[in-house]
Amino acid sequence: MRIRPLLPYLAGVGVAASALTVVTEPATAQSAPVRTEWREVFSPDGTIRRVRVTREIHASPAPRSLVEAAEVIPVEVNGPSENHFDLVFVGDGYTASEMGAYGGHVRGKFEETMAKEPFRSHRSQFNVWQVNVVSQQSGVDNDPSRGVDRATALDMGFWCGGIQRLLCVNETKARQYAAAARDVDQVLALGNSTTYGGAGGAVATASGGNARSGEVAVHEMGHSIGGLADEYSDGQGDVYRGPEPRELNVSIYSRGQMQQNQAKWARFLGQPTPDGGVIDTFEGAYYHLRGIYRPSQNSIMRTLGREFNLPGREAMIAAFYREKTLPFEKTLPVEKPFARGASG
Ligand SMILES: [Zn+2]
Repeated sequence: MRIRPLLPYLAGVGVAASALTVVTEPATAQSAPVRTEWREVFSPDGTIRRVRVTREIHASPAPRSLVEAAEVIPVEVNGPSENHFDLVFVGDGYTASEMGAYGGHVRGKFEETMAKEPFRSHRSQFNVWQVNVVSQQSGVDNDPSRGVDRATALDMGFWCGGIQRLLCVNETKARQYAAAARDVDQVLALGNSTTYGGAGGAVATASGGNARSGEVAVHEMGHSIGGLADEYSDGQGDVYRGPEPRELNVSIYSRGQMQQNQAKWARFLGQPTPDGGVIDTFEGAYYHLRGIYRPSQNSIMRTLGREFNLPGREAMIAAFYREKTLPFEKTLPVEKPFARGASG
């Protein structure tokens, strides 16, 4: 299935999903090209924040002969790609003799994802592909400590942009290898490491050997499949003053306004939610503390390890079954335009 971008900023080539703003600066004779962008950083306690990192772009392509030689293993194929979600794993820092371990990591991350609702009940909507990417050396850069440099196929490494747990990948190479699969809706690059870490984006990354890093993939698919916004406030801004976001799980409208206008999650208000409590309008979301609301106290779009909330789960299920030919926008609930602050 080709997931159609929900928002214009999801459409750019090389621009990751979710909250990433990318500014590419031209290369000069003296330095490698660098890119400044927002990246999501995931901590072991489940908290998520965005950091603005400037890093060198590792965008050199992989040799075609190597890409063509990569074996593709169908891990689980449940149907045609036109109406199934194709999740493609690529690996880095796995040598030829470690392909077995890599396969184990892929299945582990996939099972970790499928253990969570709504994936568990809709597993048959997924196809999973494992592209066997062979690296010269075992492990990834800056692991277990800064300064460790390894010759690997996808250039993965921790300490990306100076952030310890931010695990970056050469997205050009990751996409090249992923394209060997029958279809690609989300790429997940696994690094051969047990260190907790990962990164969000259209090419999400995670430590293959860390038991909790699969939560990163689940959160990312909240963005890439469900079109969901982040529900955390990370202190990047205080009061949100922008327009009503298009994502279904954040809103500038208070409970009363939402109810009156039947906007966003109005139909779920007061209902129990899988992440605990009932659906309401909780202030603080979308990187701001005030002026914007989320549907529940603490969903996975706010903290890793949690469940999707009710509106999030519904959006995910709808996306699992969305027809390929149906423009994404037409499936969104129609919202009545109304003035902000019209009622309380
Ligand atoms: Zn996110």
